[in-house]
Amino acid sequence: MAYDLIIVGGGPGGSTAAKIAAERGLNVLLLEADQEGRYKCCAGGIPVTNEEFTPIPKGVGEREIAGGVVVTPKNGPMEFDTTGEKDKGYCMFRTDFDNYLVNIARDAGTQVIYGFRAKGIEINNEGVLVKGPQQYRSKCVILATGLGGAHLQRHLGMEVPPMITGIQAEFTMPESVITEQFGNQVWEFFDRSISEHGIAWAFPKQDAVSVGILGRNIKISNFESFLRYPFIKDKLTGREMKMFGGRKIWAAPIPDKLIAKPYRDRVMIIGDACGTADPILYEGIYQARLSGKLAAETFSKAYDEEDFGETSLARYHNLLLKQLYEEDLRYSYKIHTLLYHSGLLENIIDAAYAMAQEDPEMMQSIIALFTRSQTRKRIWKVMLSHKRKLIKHLGISSSLRLIPTLFRASRI
Ligand SMILES: Cc1cc2nc3c(=O)[nH]c(=O)nc-3n(C[C@H](O)[C@H](O)[C@H](O)COP(=O)(O)OP(=O)(O)OC[C@H]3O[C@@H](n4cnc5c(N)ncnc54)[C@H](O)[C@@H]3O)c2cc1C
Repeated sequence: MAYDLIIVGGGPGGSTAAKIAAERGLNVLLLEADQEGRYKCCAGGIPVTNEEFTPIPKGVGEREIAGGVVVTPKNGPMEFDTTGEKDKGYCMFRTDFDNYLVNIARDAGTQVIYGFRAKGIEINNEGVLVKGPQQYRSKCVILATGLGGAHLQRHLGMEVPPMITGIQAEFTMPESVITEQFGNQVWEFFDRSISEHGIAWAFPKQDAVSVGILGRNIKISNFESFLRYPFIKDKLTGREMKMFGGRKIWAAPIPDKLIAKPYRDRVMIIGDACGTADPILYEGIYQARLSGKLAAETFSKAYDEEDFGETSLARYHNLLLKQLYEEDLRYSYKIHTLLYHSGLLENIIDAAYAMAQEDPEMMQSIIALFTRSQTRKRIWKVMLSHKRKLIKHLGISSSLRLIPTLFRASRI
């Protein structure tokens, strides 16, 4: 039997696309390589903006987050509270969240097959053939394979995004101890001696804390030194790491840049496979879901017009540029350049936090970096409108060092 649409990959991007396409009455097949209930290496920080796509019920959203803590080598813990509805967020295990999203897609009418690893995809004038343990045909395919389907993308003559690495473990603790030690706050560490080009974190869930580090050329030794870091070591001493699939410490890639052309005839690429993750804190769930929504809507229109050619599917890319790149990702790349390519990561974070103490607008923008309650475009504009204060807090010599990077960032 031929499907209207096959989606390869059952992460948040794929299941969001599947739900939306199935709700429009299309005949959708979702193929996921892993078995149901797999562990996914992810800190599981989910801003409330995710509720644009589906509500997050109690139980799935394990711990409601009401603030953050920022740590740099000189300062910390620097705390901020989030009180607004738009600043809410959750920390949860991706196993629960991803199962929940796949079940919603299934309830909408998607056929779901777990344990199906797509090995090859053929495209011709008649349609798409997805090959794996069986073969399935459809009019179009959405690749939502995260960074696990690079071979499929290359085989189709499509680009694969550049990537960095994340390493993480989940430490078991009683709920009350987590509340006492970490609070309902996400902890983010900015220190180039732990990660030259990235961050480290501790994200509290109900009965576990995700502790991890990401960046370029990150190795297990970087992760181990983070476990000895002030504010982390004492809290983790004597605590066990949870075991998932026979492993306690997990590593996974995260994309670093959007690919230039995420479509061709009968194919669209979404989520991490397309490079949609945000390169400031490297979260990518919301962006994967937004791209999934846009791809499903594009497919639905292409179906009505019976046109699955490249020009028809280019609409997906235009929507992605308008709704994700122009408002957000473009400015994330600017902020990324300032933070990770200036050699002044810690100084900028310290200066921004000091400015936020004096200025509520700046404080709200810093909060929004974590909660997504403002677009990255807005945050960049607020930062630039405070550049005199930034210079004052950075000091003259750091400010002079920042000029070439600021110039580079402003040209993105
Ligand atoms: C350590 C770490 C921490 C992170 N923390 C956060 C965070 O706190 N918040 C946040 O928003 N983001 C976070 N991210 C990023 C987030 O995990 C991704 O951006 C998000 O999962 C992307 O969703 P996706 O649907 O595009 O891909 P994925 O979630 O990777 O899903 C892809 C799916 O495709 C399947 N697949 C792959 N190849 C095939 C194939 N050939 N056939 C069939 N199926 C296949 C995979 O099994 C997988 O289930 C983190 C990432 C890492 C590595």
